[in-house]
Formats: sequence, C-alpha cells, structure tokens
Amino acid sequence: MNHNYICPHCKGQLKIDKDIIFLTKTKNGESALVLISPEIGNYTYKSHPSVKYEDGDHVNFICPICYENLDAKEFESQNLAKIFMIDENGKQYSVVFSKIKGEKCTYKVSDDTFEAYGKNSGEYMNYFGETSVF
Ligand SMILES: [Zn+2]
Repeated sequence: MNHNYICPHCKGQLKIDKDIIFLTKTKNGESALVLISPEIGNYTYKSHPSVKYEDGDHVNFICPICYENLDAKEFESQNLAKIFMIDENGKQYSVVFSKIKGEKCTYKVSDDTFEAYGKNSGEYMNYFGETSVF
C-alpha cells in the first residue's frame, strides 16, 4: 500500500517507509517518538524500550514537523486524534483514532465512506452521526 499520511495542519508527510512517525506526550509530561503501522486496524507500534506508557494512558499525538497537537477537535471527546490519508488515486480520508493506550479503534472517513476498525470501535461511534463533520 502506497498511501501517504499527512498532518492536517502543515500537510507534512508523516509516513516514512513502513511507519507513521508521531511525537507523543502523556499528561504526566513524558514524551517519546512512536512509530505506528500505516495499516489501518494493525495496532502494533514501536518505541524505545525506555518508554513506559501504560494501558489507559492518555497520549497526546503531536506532528513531529510542525508540533501541532493532532487532536480531532471537531469531536466532543478529548480522546480522539486525526490525520489525513491520501490513497493511490489522490482521494483524501480522515483517519481518526483513539489517543488512549490499549484502546483499539480507528475510523477511516471521507465524504462518502465510513469504515470502523478495532475491537473498541463502538466506543466513539456516536460521534459519527448523520451530519458529517468532515
Ligand atoms: Zn504538521
């Protein structure tokens, strides 16, 4: 899959080779670089062994290029972050995912499509109603 993942703020490329790169920071002020699989629904990630994030931690995802917080501010929940994905045909999707470590849910959304992934995807489904916010 040759999809590009870009920051909604600076449009910078977040994917290099087989990883999406994020700067992350917990509410306790711990920060780390995290590499996440670009395959939606695959929740494996890489970080340095010294990183001690635990399940349930609220992790802020920050663009490593422009340092903007990637919070999906259009939702009432504080637990969702968003980046854009551009597929091989140039079509743009929003990829919305949970910021809570251990919570597996991702939503791939465009004007005319909606796909939910992960065993916790029911958690935030109520935010995706009839009226599109994208
Ligand atoms: Zn950016």
